[in-house]
Amino acid sequence: MPLYEYSCSACSGKFDVLTSYSNREKLQVCPTCESTRTKVLVSSFAAFGAGEESGKAPVSLGGGGCGPGCCGGACSAN
Ligand SMILES: [Zn+2]
Repeated sequence: MPLYEYSCSACSGKFDVLTSYSNREKLQVCPTCESTRTKVLVSSFAAFGAGEESGKAPVSLGGGGCGPGCCGGACSAN
């Protein structure tokens, strides 16, 4: 399930909730002040934490020259 970030308008706090897409619009209880005056922030698929610059897709991690078409086994045998 994706991780969604919520902001609490009662205490201005932020917290993350692991919920399904269909439930993300539901009100979440703030863990700090137990208020339900919360709203979901724009999802950034923050599985790696906030602050990550957008556009840096972790696709080529561990790769380096291996294109998407040559990963069938021949490239990794080098
Ligand atoms: Zn709160």
